[in-house]
Amino acid sequence: MSPSATTLPTGLVSEKTPAEQKLAQPAVQGLDASKLTYEFTSSPRPVPADIATACAGSESICTDHMITVAWNVETGWATPQLRPYGPLSIMPTASVLHYATECFEGLKVYRGVDDKLRLFRPDCNARRMLMSALRISLPSFEPAELEKLIVALMAVDGARWLPSGGPPDAYLYLRPTMIGTHAQLGLQTPRDALLFITASFLPRLDTIVGGLRLNTSPEDSVRAWAGGFGYAKVGANYGPSLLASNEARARGCQQVLWLYGSEGYCTEAGGSNFFVVWKNKETGKTELVTAPLDDRLILDGVTRRSILQLARERLSDELDVVERKYTMTELQEAAAEGRLVEAFAAGTAYFVTAVSLIIHRDEDVLFPMETELGGKYTRYLKGSVSDIMYGRADHEWGVVIKETQ
Ligand SMILES: *Cc1c(COP(=O)(O)O)cnc(C)c1O
Repeated sequence: MSPSATTLPTGLVSEKTPAEQKLAQPAVQGLDASKLTYEFTSSPRPVPADIATACAGSESICTDHMITVAWNVETGWATPQLRPYGPLSIMPTASVLHYATECFEGLKVYRGVDDKLRLFRPDCNARRMLMSALRISLPSFEPAELEKLIVALMAVDGARWLPSGGPPDAYLYLRPTMIGTHAQLGLQTPRDALLFITASFLPRLDTIVGGLRLNTSPEDSVRAWAGGFGYAKVGANYGPSLLASNEARARGCQQVLWLYGSEGYCTEAGGSNFFVVWKNKETGKTELVTAPLDDRLILDGVTRRSILQLARERLSDELDVVERKYTMTELQEAAAEGRLVEAFAAGTAYFVTAVSLIIHRDEDVLFPMETELGGKYTRYLKGSVSDIMYGRADHEWGVVIKETQ
């Protein structure tokens, strides 16, 4: 007897034609945060008393849990899992280990003055992560789902690792990452990938005594180039930059100011965007200047765009906000003519940190430091962003996390 629909349990009889059935089959599964499963740790780890203690060792101290989501080209995104923090297992032939198929994000979570946990514009990080993933041929996903997973991790670990009543200005650092795990050598688009999210302590970098010192990149070295991928947060941008960072450190600087082209265009400062306040040579008007995005050399920082927007909204009476190319020679000229007002670096890790010195070849370019925390514009913009992060100012950029405990 040949099997027929009538031999199947009635619940499974399909009334759809084969063509319809094919269409009705779930397409490759999209990233779906609502499916998140929870496996809680049975051995919670000690929480360091403060950031300085947490960062004294040589390993990032992460919270009790992490989130992982596997992806396969045929089945799509698997069930997201919240599980105890611990090692990942990948094959030695995994794509990421050979071809740098990796991208990441960095954002902080803050314990506000009202005891609420907040993220700062996580939608921007999620969208940028998608852009970076696609640049490095990793799979697509719905950014809002990544944002929900970030929130879910902090909803679980926030209460213990970023306790209310803790030190003021406390934060944790979130690191969403995607890697190609496809275990086959040969240059190809990964057919397997892994998305994971950790939360850890990160040293406070925005309070450098005497201000941040930058060393310009060596003449024979370039961080990003037209047609390249400097605008994406892909790991491949960072490893090769360490050589120049070491040289900067040897010269007493904390970061590299990356220059581009024979003209010496100022682009960005290590893992942060770079801003100058100066008096315009022709008009004498005060300008806030930073490198533009259109040539795709620099990263579109969330801190950068927030500062530009706040400056345009709130400081337009006092200064012009300008995104344009400018060179090290222009900075030297402005210094010589006494037109430099302030400079700062802006990014999640360095937050907003006043720059006091650029060493360019054998010349020092000094920026006025009105106070230890820099000049009035630096301090005002830093304060404005910080007020949103810590809930001192109500703003749509501050996204409150509902905690489970
Ligand atoms: C992450 C990063 C920044 C800063 O971006 P934010 O979103 O403000 O943290 C700037 N430049 C580079 C190269 C970066 O990697």
